[in-house]
Amino acid sequence: MTTKDIQIYGAGLSGLVSAINLARGGHTVTVYEKEKKIGGTLKCHPSVHMTPVHIQNMQRYVGIELESCFSKLEAFRGYIGPKKIVFSTKNLYIVERGPRESSLDYFLYKTALEEEVNFEFSHPLTPEKLRSIPGNSIIATAGYSQIVRDLHLPYVTFKQFDTHMKTDIRNITIVYFGDYTSDYGYISAKNGMLSAQLSGPSNLSQENLKKFTNLVKETEGIELDSWSSIITHFPKKARLFTKFDGKTYVLAGDVAGFLDPFFGFGINGALMSGKIAAMGITSKQDALQEFKQFTSHLNKDLLLHTIYWHLPLKKLILSQIMKFHDNHLSLIKRSIPGFTEEDWLKIVSTENLVFYCI
Ligand SMILES: Cc1cc2nc3c(=O)[nH]c(=O)nc-3n(C[C@H](O)[C@H](O)[C@H](O)COP(=O)(O)OP(=O)(O)OC[C@H]3O[C@@H](n4cnc5c(N)ncnc54)[C@H](O)[C@@H]3O)c2cc1C
Repeated sequence: MTTKDIQIYGAGLSGLVSAINLARGGHTVTVYEKEKKIGGTLKCHPSVHMTPVHIQNMQRYVGIELESCFSKLEAFRGYIGPKKIVFSTKNLYIVERGPRESSLDYFLYKTALEEEVNFEFSHPLTPEKLRSIPGNSIIATAGYSQIVRDLHLPYVTFKQFDTHMKTDIRNITIVYFGDYTSDYGYISAKNGMLSAQLSGPSNLSQENLKKFTNLVKETEGIELDSWSSIITHFPKKARLFTKFDGKTYVLAGDVAGFLDPFFGFGINGALMSGKIAAMGITSKQDALQEFKQFTSHLNKDLLLHTIYWHLPLKKLILSQIMKFHDNHLSLIKRSIPGFTEEDWLKIVSTENLVFYCI
């Protein structure tokens, strides 16, 4: 094994972007993935994600032409309790995740194969293996892998219910805030598939899920069933490197805490942190500087999110927040990692964040 041989754990967004960048830099890269094939766990994928993204800036930053995986969002509405709200769709995109050939994961996998990255499937990183993998390995196994806990990083715990089904609806996101969760539920559809998710604290119950499911049926006529659930550990602090058993590892994606703590937007953060983790192998100082630039506000935002979770009368407060304008919302804008404030202004316009009550 030479310093040019790099091991990456997790063949998701951040792991694949790291692999592609390192292979292009002349490294021999092997990606170790827990599942039998590309696309992550079947407990929450295939799925459809919505994200604000500046595609050209993103492509330039990560060095991968991934535009074909993103479609413009055509409709975006939501409900606070039963009250309907309509959002602007400007600069918002929708992307498929999971094992199908139409997913972003598959596209990145194909690109990595073209760059001669090696893959070892059915190869989970376990607490025992953590002690034997070489220093400088990249860990990109996502929050639901429990590796955050195994690395002894301080974390908060979330629970997620997930499901998906066939649909004729396309390029749409519907978001739900209500007393069934302190977080939110959402539905997105693309490529003939609709996926839904309800997230919240670890004690989120079947009763909460039933309330959410009923509300979706009442408001949109969509019948959701066959739910599965996962527990996610999200780091309390964003960090690029961690020491474990005397060795230093490079972290990427959710495991690096590179995710917006308010809405759980993680696509931007995963793609960008994949590039930064690759830099962490070749130039630690540059990588740290880059990492700081994109994450310096995140630790404070996570604290604010925890306070928000515990607020009483959230429904009332939420509808008041929706009436605020640009200045008040700059906090939320900045909280999605991957962009400087200046980049943010290019991506998310004021209209995107002003909600129109019907
Ligand atoms: C159901 C769901 C819906 C979401 N919706 C949105 C959304 O709408 N918008 C948005 O911006 N973000 C969304 N996110 C967040 C976003 O998907 C993540 O932040 C992003 O995928 C994180 O990238 P990653 O590289 O850290 O992990 P992932 O892309 O999840 O990849 C992790 C990989 O590691 C593998 N793995 C897990 N455990 C191990 C192990 N022990 N050993 C080896 N490999 C392992 C997994 O199988 C997977 O292939 C959502 C997340 C989920 C789960």
